[in-house]
Formats: sequence, C-alpha cells, structure tokens
Amino acid sequence: MTKKNLGTLCVQAGYEPKNGEARVVPIVQSTTFKYDSSEQMANLFDLKEAGYFYTRLANPTNDAVANKIVALEGGVAGILTSSGQAANFYALLNILKAGDHIISSSAIYGGTYNLIANTLKNFGIEATFVDPNISIEDLNKEFKKNTKVVFGETLSNPSLKVLDIETFATAAHEHGVPLIVDNTFPTPIFLRPIEWGADIVTHSTTKYMNGSANSVGGAIVDSGNFDWSKYKDKFPGLTEPDESYHGVVFTESFGKGAYITKMTTTLMRDLGSIPSPQNSFYLGIGLETLHLRMPRHFENALALAKYLKSNDKISWVNFSGLEDDSQHELAQKYLPKGSCGVIAFGIKGGRVAATKFMDSLKLAAVVTHVADARTCVLHPASTTHRQMNDEELKKAGISPDLIRMSVGIEDAEDIIADVEQALNSL
Ligand SMILES: *Cc1c(COP(=O)(O)O)cnc(C)c1O
Repeated sequence: MTKKNLGTLCVQAGYEPKNGEARVVPIVQSTTFKYDSSEQMANLFDLKEAGYFYTRLANPTNDAVANKIVALEGGVAGILTSSGQAANFYALLNILKAGDHIISSSAIYGGTYNLIANTLKNFGIEATFVDPNISIEDLNKEFKKNTKVVFGETLSNPSLKVLDIETFATAAHEHGVPLIVDNTFPTPIFLRPIEWGADIVTHSTTKYMNGSANSVGGAIVDSGNFDWSKYKDKFPGLTEPDESYHGVVFTESFGKGAYITKMTTTLMRDLGSIPSPQNSFYLGIGLETLHLRMPRHFENALALAKYLKSNDKISWVNFSGLEDDSQHELAQKYLPKGSCGVIAFGIKGGRVAATKFMDSLKLAAVVTHVADARTCVLHPASTTHRQMNDEELKKAGISPDLIRMSVGIEDAEDIIADVEQALNSL
C-alpha cells in the first residue's frame, strides 16, 4: 500500500485480496500446507523459497494481522505471539544469551519485571533497572561491556510514566545497542516510537489493539534501523553462521528482515508461542477500529480524571492528560494527541477505603485486565504486583493505595456517575 494515514491503515493495511478472493482476511485454521513435490518443501525448509508449510512458523492469517501492525508502527517486519509476555520474552531473547546484561526502565508491567528480574536472571542474563526519567549522563554510566539492549515502556502499566524515548535511544545507540520499547498503552495511534529512535517495538495486543478483551496476544515490530553488522561481536546470533540453520548468517541473507527472520526460524521453531489464527482474526477486527476507540478512551479518562481531581475523598490522581501531572510535559512531547484510557489514583483512607470503593462500583468491574471497551478497575499491590516488596513497588512507581482504573468507551457521564456513587458510599 502507498503511504496512507493511520485510520486507513487500521482498516485496510496488511491484507490485499486478489481478484475473487475473500474481502475479509480469512481464518486459515490449518496446521499445515500442501505441496506438489518434496523438492519444493525442501526449499521452503532451507529458506530458499518463501511459502507456508507449518503454522508454528508462519500462517497467512497471522501474517496479515502482523503486517497491519507493522504498517501502523512504521516498521519493516513483524510477528505475532501468543501473548504480550511472549512478545517481550522473544524480543529480548532474540539478541541475548547467558552472560549478557540489560538496562531496563524500572517503570514496567509486573509480568515484564518478573521476566527480566527473575526468569532471565536464571538464564544467566543480568539486569540494571533505572528510573524512566533518568538523565542521559546517569544513564550512560549504567552501560557495561556486556550490555546488549535497553528496554522500557513508552507509557508504563500501571504507573503511567512517560519514557523519554529520545534519551534512551541516544544512550543505547552511543553504546552500539538497540532500544526495545513496549508500546502497549499508547498504541501507534498516539505514539510511534520508531519515529523517536526506538529500534524494536513490542505490544500486548490483549489490550487496546484487540480492544474487546476476547483474546490474549502479542506483537513484535522491527524498525529495520539497527545496524547489527556494525556491532558484529555483540550480536553473534544475527551476524555469525547459525549452525542450527545450515550456517545461514541472518544479516547477510535477510538484510533488514534479519531480526524477525531469526525470531521466526529459531525462537518460534524452538519455543513455539504462536497465536491461533482464530485469535489473530479477532485481533485484526479490533485493529480496524483502533483509531476510533483510542481518542474516546482518552476523552473519557480525561473527564473522569478531572472529576476525581475535584473530589475531596481522593488524595491524588495520575493522568498525563492533566495539566499539572508530573508526566504532562513529556506527554506533550511524545503524546500530544492523547495517551490512553488508564488513570491511577489514591483514595483517602488507603487500602481499606480502596477496597470498599472498588466493591461499591456497579458499572466498572473488578477484573485483572486493562485497556478494553468496558471500564474496569484493579488494585495492583494486591494483584498484578503482589510479588514485589514495598521497596520494589516504590521503584516501579506504585503505592499501596494506588487504584488503576481503565476507562472504557461507554458514555463518560455514566462512568463518572458510577464512581460518584461508590465514593459516596465511603
Ligand atoms: C499486559 C501487558 C503485558 C503482558 O501482556 P499479556 O498479553 O498479558 O501477556 C506486557 N506489557 C504491558 C505494558 C502490558 O500492559
């Protein structure tokens, strides 16, 4: 498709049917694909020919939806995974091995924190966590000889910190390593991290991209901008012959597609976290309205944030859309049109009042989820982040009284009325 605007890409990118083919991307619910000769099949295995042969490695439905996300993020290649967790795991593992070091923003999703701080540590990969608003001078000091990647969330879940992407990208590139960012919350509708220097973008598509909370999924998009061969010694998996694939050198054979091709042919082959084509189909349908839903999420959240701000039962409100918010200045730079529908606030009376408030809500449901059409609410300290001690919680920007409210796309008046009646019950 020639260069189009985001709304058009949401609706149409990724799938262009030929004459007589289905208008809507078909659900190719088949594990395998038929060929006339074994020679052709052998060529597919050797990556000499492009084609589908086994859905763990590639599937037309999954590819069409991945390509839509690639178009939205302005990347060159992408892949879907079975969850957001798998996306971040693969994005990192594709370039890391035992003995390597990661620099990560400390303001990240609880699952990703556990992945980096514990699971990858058990793999022999160390991490240093830094404040998302760290100065470039201080960030530069954290690099070690074995640092291979910098990671952060563009707008963190649930602490809602805006990552200074340019600072992180500049520091990463000065040290010859890529910046990977998780762009789940803003989505490309509000922020396209590649334009600010990020090299690889990940998503939990479970959230706004799907939008209706009907399937878990993830995505990884490569900008194609990072020059792996310039730092050959740092990334041998991409720049040296891969013995598990007939000695292929991914950067030589696949150019800008090297990173995603390696992920497909080695990580998907060996670990296999693919989405089902059915789930990818739901994701594709969700993406068709992403450009309509995101502004509505933001408007509703802003209206609720302003209401909460004026209520004396509330001790604090975090939402980058509020002018006096600590993140507002960075948000004006990176998220000028809006951020997301998630807000965080504290209720006077701490943990006890927070629980009573949540139990009194009628329209907003208490669920372990964020970022879908229905308004919902969660208390991270007792759920998603319960593995963290108080010190770690503080570092991740979460206080024990923090309530995370994911404002849906219902009518704002009804959402506010529900919150009001719950506050009145305190
Ligand atoms: C939810 C979430 C994840 C994990 O995604 P799953 O789809 O639940 O595996 C990762 N990063 C962020 C920012 C998230 O919000």
